[in-house]
Amino acid sequence: KGNVIDGKAVAAKIREETAAKVAELKAKYSRVPGLAVVIVGERKDSQTYVRMKRKACEEVGISSFGADLPETATQEEVLEVVRGFNSNPDVHGILVQLPLPKHIDEQAVLGAISVEKDVDGFHPLNIGRLAMKGREPLFAPCTPVGCMELLERCNITIKGKRAVVVGRSNIVGMPAALLLNKRDATVTICHSATKDMESIVRQADIIIAAAGQPQLVKGSWVKPGAAIIDVGTNPVDDPTKAAGYRLVGDANFEECKAVAGAITPVPGGVGPMTIAILLRNTLVSGERFITGKLQCPVAEDMKAGCSK
Ligand code: NAD
Repeated sequence: KGNVIDGKAVAAKIREETAAKVAELKAKYSRVPGLAVVIVGERKDSQTYVRMKRKACEEVGISSFGADLPETATQEEVLEVVRGFNSNPDVHGILVQLPLPKHIDEQAVLGAISVEKDVDGFHPLNIGRLAMKGREPLFAPCTPVGCMELLERCNITIKGKRAVVVGRSNIVGMPAALLLNKRDATVTICHSATKDMESIVRQADIIIAAAGQPQLVKGSWVKPGAAIIDVGTNPVDDPTKAAGYRLVGDANFEECKAVAGAITPVPGGVGPMTIAILLRNTLVSGERFITGKLQCPVAEDMKAGCSK
């Protein structure tokens, strides 16, 4: 496949490694990690993601817990569900599928998840630690961790390299930039107000494209040999497909592939990594709880978040 990174194969490997470790825990302690997935409302895309996550848990032997709340659920009802999972000893990871309906304060809900069960890595204490020198989060967000893992498993050096992240969302762009910074890349973040983006992107050894704009990054923007991790998952009309659409990334794949040293396809690149990392984060959390090695980081800055 030349310079095309096979995200599906890497994700399958991580799932295998996770399943083996879950089996080990089960043999030794007769317990398995548990993940609770909370969904509010009837968004079709969210329902699909939640179904995929629950099925993926089963496949690696993680037990899956669910709460499906109606669109009309109140913030207090959602918080109540989160608190229930916080105190359930069989649940080691809690994920609230985003976006939440508009009348619910997303940050309030994410902040109510126990930091030590925050396998999505969106709790402000985990994000804060990701941004701090000398601190590590208990968990970092799954999609950006998946991007790092693809770079690392493809032997692409991060330290000392110039990385450009296109997009600065809480879920992808910003944590991707923070993770690259932790790995000693020199990081530039581009966003919708960035001027002359192409000259900035052209300096990059590593490009993380996460703007949600189909084929935004052109081949002519790419330094020869650069690595491109394309997070974008954009549906575009395609009457030749049964569904009437196909998915394209934030990079123009054919143009960029001709110049890049390595590139992830869409689909089959970053997409499969997200769930694989979620499973691995849940395993890590389950291991900490089940083996009794859960130590909330001793630092004072975590204390508040560790109290139930
Ligand atoms: P978002 O809409 O929350 O954020 C987009 C970011 O891109 C913003 O910071 C915005 O400033 C920036 N941006 C938008 N247009 C731009 C432009 N023309 N030039 C420069 N910057 C621009 O989106 P998100 O949740 O971060 O998701 C980004 C993309 O990644 C989407 O296509 C989404 O579907 C995809 N995604 C994929 C996965 C996965 O697992 N593969 C997971 C999450 C998101």
